[in-house]
Amino acid sequence: MVNIAAIIYEPGNSVRNKTGGWRTFRPILDIKKCIKCEKCYIFCPEGAIQEDIDGNFIIDYDYCKGCLICEHECPVKAITRVREEK
Ligand code: SF4
Ligand code: SF4
Repeated sequence: MVNIAAIIYEPGNSVRNKTGGWRTFRPILDIKKCIKCEKCYIFCPEGAIQEDIDGNFIIDYDYCKGCLICEHECPVKAITRVREEK
């Protein structure tokens, strides 16, 4: 039987799957506007949005590929974009 957890969480996978270098645009999350609805957290295809110990949502740019689904889904426009500097 295949151990799914081992496949997903094997350390090498997370390094191999870093997608931060793909971005053209970088999403910026304004925690002052955020109502903590969790939509960005739920819809991010990379799992790049996490909740910190203070309950704020933060973006891990090592894994954010810049698809901007989070910006599209945020109901209060707390996520905006800036052009990525290379
Ligand atoms: S831009 Fe895409 S990958 Fe990056 S945090 Fe938003 S939903 Fe996730
Ligand atoms: S979708 Fe917007 S309001 Fe909801 S948790 Fe994310 S940043 Fe906050």
